Amino acid sequence: LELRIKILEGSTSKNVPNTRRLSSPERKRILVTGGAGFVGSHLVDILMKNGHEVTVVDNFFTGRKSNLHHWFSHKNFELIHHDIVNPLYIEVDQIYHLASPASPPHYMFNPVKTIKTNALGTINMLGLAKRIGARVLVASTSEVYGDPQVHPQPEDYWGNVNPIGPRSCYDEGKRIAEALSYAYAKQENVAVRVARIFNTYGPRMNINDGRVVSNFIMQSLLNHSITIYGDGTQTRSFAYIDDLVDGLIKLMNSNYSLPVNLGNPEEYTILEFATLIKNLVGGSSSIVFTDGVEDDPQRRRPDISRARRELNWTPKVPLKIGLKKTIEYFRKEMSNLNEN
Ligand code: NAD
Repeated sequence: LELRIKILEGSTSKNVPNTRRLSSPERKRILVTGGAGFVGSHLVDILMKNGHEVTVVDNFFTGRKSNLHHWFSHKNFELIHHDIVNPLYIEVDQIYHLASPASPPHYMFNPVKTIKTNALGTINMLGLAKRIGARVLVASTSEVYGDPQVHPQPEDYWGNVNPIGPRSCYDEGKRIAEALSYAYAKQENVAVRVARIFNTYGPRMNINDGRVVSNFIMQSLLNHSITIYGDGTQTRSFAYIDDLVDGLIKLMNSNYSLPVNLGNPEEYTILEFATLIKNLVGGSSSIVFTDGVEDDPQRRRPDISRARRELNWTPKVPLKIGLKKTIEYFRKEMSNLNEN
């Protein structure tokens, strides 16, 4: 068995990464919704390398085919252009349900669509799971805690969300996705996993996604002023993408069905973070302060004791190392843009 798992195969061209060969009980058919996006495409990479059959469903609202192009000719890979607010009929063993815009400018661009994606899209995925007996992992968010009054945030904190604010399409969208997951679990016996993902960064993030990591890196690379909304004392914690993907796979394959925070508990003020990026990029940007943003959470840090206990998971990539890799990616993206 070990030999069988160890044999590397699957490359039909030099550019296709190697994958394991798994025999049938270990090899799973896995659906990843939103698999052309930042998190989804990294998850697909690991699932493919581990020898599974992976189908990606994406409407390319924020995702890109180029995030997955290295898999196009692999026999275990399939990409379907589909909007998950419409039902989908497919046979799989596991569903990672990630499809949803994730950054404020993207989810506020069409708030009604954001709510539909998280409500109708999640109903479609849970309904599919019920029909075919698949296990579903729903990508929730730390935004379900809103502007938290408990710090750090454990999973049994119910949150402090403004239900009618500008971010509510996303925050409440994810809260309904969680409520739906547990309704399907109780009523229909669907096996659900809920990951409450905290800020994550890394290569393939959208360079225009409007969040601090991409804003600060772009501003530094362009030698523009680094803009901080508010006084910079608000805090965030940032997890590197490889750590998150490891946590998602561990959660999917665990026996634990309550929500689990996945994030890095190292907390930085936004000012500290801006200074670190400025120094790593090494440009001549100055740091400037501008008006705060409505409903912007003041403090954000995951309590990850549950993930440690139930999944034996803990983030490993230090912020400086992860940021260096991300800055490298942004540099390449910028030079590609300049060439085209
Ligand atoms: P992303 O925007 O890069 O990826 C989302 C993907 O979903 C994109 O490929 C997009 O085209 C697709 N999509 C959106 N609406 C769709 C629809 N109706 N039908 C089909 N596909 C659709 O975002 P991401 O950062 O990779 O986030 C992935 C998931 O993780 C999201 O559910 C997000 O809410 C969650 N999350 C991410 C973070 C983070 O820091 N990146 C934090 C918390 C939660």
